[in-house]
Amino acid sequence: MNKRAMTEKASKIKEFFLQFIMPPKCAVCGKLLNINDGTLCVECLEKWHDEKEKECERCTRCASLCTCNAKLNKTAIISYYSSCSMYESDFSKEIIASLKYKRQKCLIKFMANELMSNMYMIYGLKLDNCIIAYPPRSKSSLKKYGFDHAKMLANELGSLTGIPVFHGMRHKGSKEQKYLNYESRAKNAFESFYIKNTAEASEKLRGKTVILIDDVITTGATAICIAAFLHNCGAESVKFLSVAKTPPLSKRNL
Ligand SMILES: [Zn+2]
Ligand SMILES: [Zn+2]
Repeated sequence: MNKRAMTEKASKIKEFFLQFIMPPKCAVCGKLLNINDGTLCVECLEKWHDEKEKECERCTRCASLCTCNAKLNKTAIISYYSSCSMYESDFSKEIIASLKYKRQKCLIKFMANELMSNMYMIYGLKLDNCIIAYPPRSKSSLKKYGFDHAKMLANELGSLTGIPVFHGMRHKGSKEQKYLNYESRAKNAFESFYIKNTAEASEKLRGKTVILIDDVITTGATAICIAAFLHNCGAESVKFLSVAKTPPLSKRNL
């Protein structure tokens, strides 16, 4: 048995014993789960399904089909984009916060499955020509929270679909995008992200369809920046998938 298989076996045994000491709790609200529940309790699961069905106020499509985002519509750098839900209600903020700030493998798996459903539903892809990419967490954020949820999501989506994952992006930035406007976000993204080894990256990305994933898309600045780097390394097209998107209510996003 190799080292990876041994570690996997050990973590399964640990998980098995832990459920007796610490009964499983809902990954969002923390309520104790019933025997038939999965990652979320019945109430949270219902709320999540409602989130996915909510309509965009501008185009009346649900998040997975809504493509209202001015910056992304004006650039060919991202050929298509889709999100599982709108990032607006208290619940959607809570579920994203749980994904970003609490290290929960079960929630990562749950969201990877959701991304996969969107991927199959929206994109008719030849999977053998695809590669998954993600914006890695910044070093300061990684230090603070101890894990990279985007990387974990990408790896999980990779193992679900058999699509390889590109790990060549780096993030040296420390400024949080959420406090910045589009222009500052774009500048910050281009200053923060870079490709570790361009020659190596080109070998992996040339002629590929890249499925770029993220937790939330707001202005699209980070996605456009990463997509530009991927195209520079020969990627043929970049399709974007996120768990949630900020609804295009304000003029900023239209
Ligand atoms: Zn719950
Ligand atoms: Zn829309």
